[in-house]
Amino acid sequence: MPDQSHVLFLVMLSVTVLVALAWLPLWLQDRQHKAVFWSMIAALTFGCSMICRVTLPFLPAIAIANAGILIAHGLIWIACRSLRKRPPALGLIVTPAIIWLGLCLVRPFQADVNLRMFVFGLIAAFLNGLAMREVWLIKRGSPVVKGWLLGLLGIEVIVKLAWAIWALTQPVGKGMVFSTIPGFIPMLASITGFILLLGPALVALDKELSDLRQHDAAREDFMTGIGNRRYLEETLEEYFDRAVQYGQPLSLIMVDADRFKEYNDLYGHPAGDRCLQALVGVLKLCCRSGDIVGRYGGEEFAVLLPETGAKGALAVAQRMLLEVRALRLEHTRAPAGIVTISLGVASTNDNIAQMTPAALIKRADLALYSAKHDGRDRVSMSVPDGNVPPKFHEDMAERDISPYVAT
Ligand code: GH3
Ligand code: MG
Ligand code: MG
Repeated sequence: MPDQSHVLFLVMLSVTVLVALAWLPLWLQDRQHKAVFWSMIAALTFGCSMICRVTLPFLPAIAIANAGILIAHGLIWIACRSLRKRPPALGLIVTPAIIWLGLCLVRPFQADVNLRMFVFGLIAAFLNGLAMREVWLIKRGSPVVKGWLLGLLGIEVIVKLAWAIWALTQPVGKGMVFSTIPGFIPMLASITGFILLLGPALVALDKELSDLRQHDAAREDFMTGIGNRRYLEETLEEYFDRAVQYGQPLSLIMVDADRFKEYNDLYGHPAGDRCLQALVGVLKLCCRSGDIVGRYGGEEFAVLLPETGAKGALAVAQRMLLEVRALRLEHTRAPAGIVTISLGVASTNDNIAQMTPAALIKRADLALYSAKHDGRDRVSMSVPDGNVPPKFHEDMAERDISPYVAT
């Protein structure tokens, strides 16, 4: 007749292994979910370690089973790392297990159960602490799920540390079967519960982060790494609503590379791509942190400037014009012999209540068209009929600016 602790142990082991196997179809369905995979491997490693614990002779069983449990903890850390798309670092999780096995070869360590429990508790707490750090560093995702994971890992760190400290305070342990080791069953139950409760939360967060990444990818321009038109239009709506709500101005600059078809014809498409990337770099450099540079389409970009009126937007556009010229990218078929851009600026200024996001785009677009029409390599500012255009930047030549009167 097996004793009670054996029965308890077998139940916990079966539940852990069955739950691990239940995640298999989840992972097979989408192998991008690395956290599911590593949670599954962690639970299986834990199960196998426990099998060693009851089937091998006493001392090797302690050494190997605890090394396996430490590896399972390391795998949980790797599962948490994978949420941040960090590589597995398998070498690092094997190291604590090797240190543990090395210590188990030392006679005084073998003989002292309290010391073994102390060292094991410390290493396990350290690995759980590393996993906690990974979850803490995840910037996105549901706070509830992250809180759940941090709570579980935190409890596990406390339990392991308490276990380690408690072991030191106990009288010297004698040789024994596993069920007589003080605190063994509670510790086993805590690890089993921890693995069972942790896995689904890791899966949930992994799926959520993966959805967020897909959402971002659908809004990113692959070639330049900035937001695409979809992103721009969504952000414009959002910024517009905020500007109306807080009564703040909002400006938009449309930017178009001059004679870019000829640039491609002259230097080839790959050079054209590199040129567009360089232009994006300059546009971004001219912006503040809250400003948005996006690719509106082809060789045309849009820059959203929240809390910025006509004067400020014009200054930014002028800086962009000058900085692109300063790049001095060769374009032998352009009048200046270098790559230049044309810019159209529109601002909501005082009349945001009568405006719409589409009207703002239209104004900036018409201003850009006007800059092209007036000879390219210049800024054109959309000025409502009857208004005086803002004063131009003193570094700018008269020909760099052409006010466009919107009607
Ligand atoms: P304009 O000064 O009037 O703007 O003349 P343009 O030649 O720049 O304008 P047009 O609309 O005639 O041509 C745009 C060119 O931009 C044509 C297209 O091949 C090029 N282009 C658009 N997207 C890309 C891209 O991703 N990479 C490269 N290399 N070229 C692109
Ligand atoms: Mg162009
Ligand atoms: Mg164009």
